Amino acid sequence: MKELKNLISNKHKIVITTHVNPDGDAIGSSLALYNYLINMGHEVNVIVPNDFPDFLKWMHNVDEILNFSNSKEESADLISEASIIFCLDFNNLERINSLGDLISDSSAKKVLIDHHLEPDEFYDFKIHDINVSATAELVYDFLFYIDPKLIDKKIAEALYTGILTDTGSFKFSITPKVHTVIASLLDKGVDTNYINKKIYDSNSFDKLKLLGYALSEKLELTSNGNVAYIALSRQELLDHNFKKGDTEGLVNYALSIENVNMAVLIIETKERIKFSFRSSGKFSVNQFARKYFNGGGHKNAAGGSLEDKLSVALKKFLENISNYSKELNY
Ligand code: 5GP
Ligand code: MN
Repeated sequence: MKELKNLISNKHKIVITTHVNPDGDAIGSSLALYNYLINMGHEVNVIVPNDFPDFLKWMHNVDEILNFSNSKEESADLISEASIIFCLDFNNLERINSLGDLISDSSAKKVLIDHHLEPDEFYDFKIHDINVSATAELVYDFLFYIDPKLIDKKIAEALYTGILTDTGSFKFSITPKVHTVIASLLDKGVDTNYINKKIYDSNSFDKLKLLGYALSEKLELTSNGNVAYIALSRQELLDHNFKKGDTEGLVNYALSIENVNMAVLIIETKERIKFSFRSSGKFSVNQFARKYFNGGGHKNAAGGSLEDKLSVALKKFLENISNYSKELNY
């Protein structure tokens, strides 16, 4: 942090990027850092690999974010001109698809700020800790280290959002320090009622109908009731006017069932089958996702994907998970 603080004491062209399908921590961390660096006088751009849910589109300067999937040339120019690139909330460049190649080719200093397991070594600086609640907590630590007075209300709101969403509303990865950080953010004037309404009480009618359909028609148990899963086809999503973010939180309903220690949401997207894995307790979905589904993440929350048909992907999941029925019974 000391070296990095020295580096950014001079003005730079900076790019901030984050993972594909950005979530609250990805966008919150990126905008907090963006707003802070802008206030310091840097020339900064946030580039995300693809679009993100509407329930995050209220944060300060969210309209400044560049979506790589529909502005490839502009993004490539900004990356080639940048002298520092921040990589937030992901642990390897493959997680950001072809944007990762541009970053890999760039001669800019790369800064990883992340809390996922086993990061690849593509960075010049790293602020990494798997024991924090969210990348936003690490961004907070860094900004606090540079100068806590420069953390204003808008920056605090973005950091609060990252921690709020990645902890499932302060349920997971909670340490005494998380609450200390949150207390200091609230001291900056964060309106928690407003943010919670924006994030959790702004559901569309279609999203709730899809939730109802998934729970009543698609929720299944396996592995002696220790595993719950939901698989949704592209057609089922289209039938419910699916929009990005509409399946967010769905997997947690499956995990909330008594005796269920692992839950999975399997979604057929246009390009591939996407898996969202969750567990409670000792079973590592990070390892499971890495081993069978080209993925990873955290011990209790991970993701992965397959380029296959939904039926094949589901079969592969059921076959693989059947080998773990002993480990999943606790
Ligand atoms: P989600 O299920 O909410 O998409 O992701 C859960 C966690 O796993 C997040 O921390 C996310 O960054 C990570 N994750 C999701 N999909 C992938 C993937 O395909 N590869 C890797 N390495 N991590 C993923
Ligand atoms: Mn995160």
